[in-house]
Amino acid sequence: MWHDDTLQRCPHCEGHVSLRREHREIGTLIECPHCGAELVVSNDEPPELDPALFEYGPEEGDHTP
Ligand SMILES: [Zn+2]
Repeated sequence: MWHDDTLQRCPHCEGHVSLRREHREIGTLIECPHCGAELVVSNDEPPELDPALFEYGPEEGDHTP
């Protein structure tokens, strides 16, 4: 029994977004199939979606210590 898809809620339209296993990685960008908003995977266990805001900005804090 595989749980390949995890249904998440779009923070914009609250529609269901299916998060595939290969997308379940922090920082992955996903487009909401309902409203077209860009979402970013903010957590992988359990998977969570956040709006991909432009304040994500330049990749400055990208290098993890
Ligand atoms: Zn949406």
